[in-house]
Amino acid sequence: MDIQRAIEWQHAFQSTYKNYPPEATEAVNIAIQALEKQIPKIPVGVRVGVNTIVDSCPSCGNALCVKGDYCPNCGQAILWEDAND
Ligand SMILES: [Zn+2]
Repeated sequence: MDIQRAIEWQHAFQSTYKNYPPEATEAVNIAIQALEKQIPKIPVGVRVGVNTIVDSCPSCGNALCVKGDYCPNCGQAILWEDAND
């Protein structure tokens, strides 16, 4: 099962079982957020000066000074291949 399918199942559980206690609903929401961060996203360009644009995390906006697989601030998976197209 891929991550997107797992997220769809989490949403399905939420919409099916309406009588979860609030803590269970919060737990599912946290799980969905964690799963969504595993789907790689392309960095966004953020202008930090007149002629300077910095690759930044699309989820939290953290400047990505090193081309790592994940944002060091929030854990978002980063897809670099398409970033310079
Ligand atoms: Zn981030």
